[in-house]
Amino acid sequence: MRLLMTAVLATGLIAQGTYAQAPAAGRAADDPARTAPQEPFRMPASERKNIADNPSWTAPQKPFRIHGNTWYVGPRGLGVFLVTARTGDVLIDAGVPGDAPLIEANIRALGVNLHDIKWILNTHAHSDHAGGMARLAHDTGAKVIAGAADAPLLERGGEDDPEYGDRFPFPPVHVARTVTDGERLHLGDLVLTAHATPGHTKGNTTWTWVSCENKRCLHLVDVGSLSAPGFKLIGNPSYPNIVKDFEHSFGVVASLPCDIPLAPHPGMVDFWARVAKRQQGNANALIDPAGCRSYAESARKRFEAQLAKQRAGLP
Ligand SMILES: [Zn+2]
Repeated sequence: MRLLMTAVLATGLIAQGTYAQAPAAGRAADDPARTAPQEPFRMPASERKNIADNPSWTAPQKPFRIHGNTWYVGPRGLGVFLVTARTGDVLIDAGVPGDAPLIEANIRALGVNLHDIKWILNTHAHSDHAGGMARLAHDTGAKVIAGAADAPLLERGGEDDPEYGDRFPFPPVHVARTVTDGERLHLGDLVLTAHATPGHTKGNTTWTWVSCENKRCLHLVDVGSLSAPGFKLIGNPSYPNIVKDFEHSFGVVASLPCDIPLAPHPGMVDFWARVAKRQQGNANALIDPAGCRSYAESARKRFEAQLAKQRAGLP
């Protein structure tokens, strides 16, 4: 870490507030032979259109520290988080299929060896969060861990999704381990807890952990998506319990201890507005203990309006 920090100071990056401190202590440089470029995944036209409609999903973003051992390493529009521990690191989510090289470059820019990533966790099995996962798992050697009910969808590459059908496929992901509600994962001194928040997908998972910086320990929450964009909520034989599941999940997210809300889509929790405020000098701008609750409540309102329309037979 000292060497990297010296380099960071020498190049003045610290002055830009990009790298407050290197996360990896004394780890060897990455082995380029194990991370050689692979055949690029050919995205289907539907996926390319999806990205074209959401250019921030592949827009570069410099990595930066969120709090303590937690770092932002995703593109601008998709939350991908690196959580470091003494005995290895954890990545949460992986962007769209084309985001893997950007995420890997961001991880390396922090001085982290890709092979120190032991686990890649997933919030849910859609192409904008699991798309880069197969490539990242290959390049890091990490095990993919996901909500048990999303494992089949990850392994079939997003096909036969209860709401999207085959519209948004991604490279299939081998799931090494599944988690259920309340399960805790221990990696050295790091503990990550899985909270089942089904609805957006059947295995949609909210991840929580505690992160300390200068003895200030905060609850970090990567909130599972609670939206239902274009979803058929009534009479969907592929997901008959969808309404019950969503209603359960709003309550779960609203009641979590939550100091710094994070999300698979940063806009869900006004993340970039908070980051901008922090850059302007408000050191606590990322902290919002009401952030998870207000996201859950606004998602619940939108959901109820959508459900009322569908119950009334309106488009
Ligand atoms: Zn999704």
